[in-house]
Amino acid sequence: MRLVLILLFGVSSVLAFEPPNSDKRRDAVGPLQALPPVLQRLLSDGGSFRPMEKPLAGDWLSTNKEPGQTFAQYVQSRPNKPGDNGRGTIYLQPIGSFPKDGVQLESVRKYLEAFYQPMRVEMLHSMDESQLLVTTRVNRGTDKLQMNCTELLNELEHLVPADAYIVMAVTMTDLYPSEEWNFVFGMARLKNRVGVFSLARYGADDPQLALERAVKVVAHETGHAFGMAHCIHFRCLMNGVNHLGEADKVPQTLCPVCLRKLHYATGFDPVKRYSEASGWWLKNGDESLASWYSKRVKSLTR
Ligand SMILES: [Zn+2]
Ligand SMILES: [Zn+2]
Repeated sequence: MRLVLILLFGVSSVLAFEPPNSDKRRDAVGPLQALPPVLQRLLSDGGSFRPMEKPLAGDWLSTNKEPGQTFAQYVQSRPNKPGDNGRGTIYLQPIGSFPKDGVQLESVRKYLEAFYQPMRVEMLHSMDESQLLVTTRVNRGTDKLQMNCTELLNELEHLVPADAYIVMAVTMTDLYPSEEWNFVFGMARLKNRVGVFSLARYGADDPQLALERAVKVVAHETGHAFGMAHCIHFRCLMNGVNHLGEADKVPQTLCPVCLRKLHYATGFDPVKRYSEASGWWLKNGDESLASWYSKRVKSLTR
């Protein structure tokens, strides 16, 4: 069975999760001594990263048993490497229509370009939902239409361009992965170069919040498509979430374990990446995140 990781909403049983201690967090990042000083600083927890805490009732780690994934385990998993076989582009694939006053997909594209640099991020022509052989249903709680995203990803796998590292679909329609689920915010495959996220549940009342939620879910799902599993070591963008309240508490940023995985995959320039992320947030209405990134740039270049 294909391994699928999802941001989901659903409660099963209550589990006891013990947050990893500082030794385990350090082991998850792995030894840094052989790395250049700028990477050692990038991957050191100088007070910029919050350790994972015990989950509250209903939170992801209270209902899902997560083994976590250390940097060494990530490397052992042989994730797809950007650029291999000419596959160096992240594509955004809009499906269906988007309201003019909603989240601007061009802003999302630019965000991904800063977050996943030096990869190219390009927008594909929009597809109509009817072009995909995907089952739909009406959600009993919301009375709104939902698409089966497992089927959607199966369809998308046939449409991945030859130069695509991944194709990340985006839709305004709500998603569900199989009958027993209520909904998911998004879903991505670790190895099969496809993912999807929905903007259906982010509301139109607060455009800033809708944008912040949109870039969070697309960066999270894209992280899965880079082969990154859910993070259990720190408060981190790659944490699994069960509900919108928990999603809003997840940081927009990657912890040292996940940063090391991303650096292994893309070889990004740490100063350039943080500087451009800071610039994006400054332009897009979150000065505190812009300043978090600027402080990290200073700590890298001190
Ligand atoms: Zn996830
Ligand atoms: Zn992490």
